[in-house]
Amino acid sequence: IEEDDIQAVVDTLKSGFLVQGKRVQQFEAQVAELTGASHAVAVSNCTAALHLALVALGISYGDLVIVPAYSWLSTANVVELCGATPIFVDVEPDTFNMSVDALKGKLKALMEDADSASRVKAVIPVHVFGQMAKMDAILALCTPYNIPVIEDAACALGSAVAQKQAGTWGTLGCFSFHPRKAITTGEGGIVVTDDQALANQLRALRNHGLDAESASPDFVLAGYNYRMTDLQGALGTTQMQKLERILASRRTCAARYAELLTGSDIAFPQPTNREAHVFQSYVVLLPLAVAPRRADVITALRDKGIQTTIGTYHMPMTRHFREQGNYQTGDFPIADQIAAQALTLPVYEGLSLEEQAFVVSTLLDVVHQFS
Ligand SMILES: *Cc1c(COP(=O)(O)O)cnc(C)c1O
Repeated sequence: IEEDDIQAVVDTLKSGFLVQGKRVQQFEAQVAELTGASHAVAVSNCTAALHLALVALGISYGDLVIVPAYSWLSTANVVELCGATPIFVDVEPDTFNMSVDALKGKLKALMEDADSASRVKAVIPVHVFGQMAKMDAILALCTPYNIPVIEDAACALGSAVAQKQAGTWGTLGCFSFHPRKAITTGEGGIVVTDDQALANQLRALRNHGLDAESASPDFVLAGYNYRMTDLQGALGTTQMQKLERILASRRTCAARYAELLTGSDIAFPQPTNREAHVFQSYVVLLPLAVAPRRADVITALRDKGIQTTIGTYHMPMTRHFREQGNYQTGDFPIADQIAAQALTLPVYEGLSLEEQAFVVSTLLDVVHQFS
């Protein structure tokens, strides 16, 4: 948070207009421009964005929505909040993103059965840690069945493949502006889409069902209050101006880590092209033998002044979904491994090469001590 961010929020406070006004509109216009989407609808957070994306598509009781096993819990929670059931599929060992083969197998099985075939209503690939999932292959599997794809692009603002931005491949794309993401509005989220009717639906849904198109107030559905404040919108507008700079510095940090880790027994991200990953988190895999002692690795690094953490969550193995789906270790073998081995290293603008060298040399020392 820099001086211009603070000033933008103070100016908004002084303006006296605090909720979903001009500043939110400006922020939406910036995100639409960056992504190339026709519509951007700001909401209170990305979980709300994902929830509204599902509601706008009409997903409700009895429906099935396919999600990857490895993500932040929002991805699966929102499905259940609509009364639908998340169907988990395993992820890829190198990108941690939804496995195209696993999706293919799961879709085939679901579509062979007339009952389940009629209930599959969406697929939500996640661009885990800011690296784009294989959208072309995922869309190629879903399009023949007319299954809409919602991108959980919470961590991926600014990543792209073939110059097409994350969030604009599917029918809807959702971004987060939580402080853990590259740019922040405190809490905040946005849905992008090219579909005018869906955008209108989203605008009504976020604001008590109020028809955004109508000249006099008219309520066209039972909506939520998922509005973004103008304080957040103002912060978003100044943060958006820094996005390119912040992403460039994160990519520089990632390239340095890659160089420092080459030749070690730590597996590190190797995106196929520079554009496809914005490194919301820099997540490496500990050697299998060391994984059971990951908590000790984190403590040993912390004692040296280095903050690290796990990656994200193996959703079907968290208590609620595990009990509900009766999932066992081995049902999602790649997610099992990644969830055990993942370690997030520090990445932020201003992290120096010397500090990164210290992180890596300390990590390698600790890993060898525990091997
Ligand atoms: C952060 C995150 C979310 C949730 O975003 P909020 O804005 O905190 O609601 C959802 N999905 C993924 C993959 C995330 O990383």
